[in-house]
Amino acid sequence: MLRDLIDLVLPADCPCGGPGPFCPACQAALAGPPEPAAPTPAPPGLPPCLAFGPYDGPLQRILLAYKERGRRDLAAPLGDRLAIGVARLLANGPAVLVPVPSTAAAVRARRGDHMERLARRAVGTLRRDGRRATLLRALVARPRPDSAGLSAAERAAAAGDAFRVRPGRTGPLRAGLAVVLVDDILTTGSTLAAVADQLRSVDIPVCGAVVIAATRRRSSPTKACRDPNRQYLSVVNSNRG
Ligand SMILES: [Zn+2]
Repeated sequence: MLRDLIDLVLPADCPCGGPGPFCPACQAALAGPPEPAAPTPAPPGLPPCLAFGPYDGPLQRILLAYKERGRRDLAAPLGDRLAIGVARLLANGPAVLVPVPSTAAAVRARRGDHMERLARRAVGTLRRDGRRATLLRALVARPRPDSAGLSAAERAAAAGDAFRVRPGRTGPLRAGLAVVLVDDILTTGSTLAAVADQLRSVDIPVCGAVVIAATRRRSSPTKACRDPNRQYLSVVNSNRG
């Protein structure tokens, strides 16, 4: 109990189990540049996405520690990465960051909306870097069943019903503002596609998305061996939004 309290104030261990709170090796795992990432096949309406690496190893441990083990201090390095991704996605001009919302149940379980926290940090970082940036909590997540174990098609169907636009939350958007979705993990892309569809339905075009990590494509073993580093990457050539 006392150890838990101490860990809440000052985490003793890094997410990797090494000396904490955030070891140089794990910092390095977050330090790479954002790269275009897309699932294969990409769902219709998925905006161009940037990710900082595959969802495994250090990135997975860091995200799980942040999301599921109360390591809120990691919102700073993770949010800063989202800011870098947004700056990469938009050469200039003001940015509107729309975090993919969690369900009310997930917010309660995690004592807060983990993506809203990251988006808030990213907006602050962008502003400190001299960019105009705004957080827009444009969406709410409907209660939904756990997607674990669902097929890609089942996930897509569930994702289509998963979000709705908050009434009155989209008023401040003006022409020229670039809306960027931010999320933690890109898997099938169905969540980001569904969110982008919801925003398009109220005339808000989405110019792209930034995530921390993208799951590796479950491709055939021969393909995976031939190109182990690039299997999660697929260059997005055009804005299909
Ligand atoms: Zn570490």
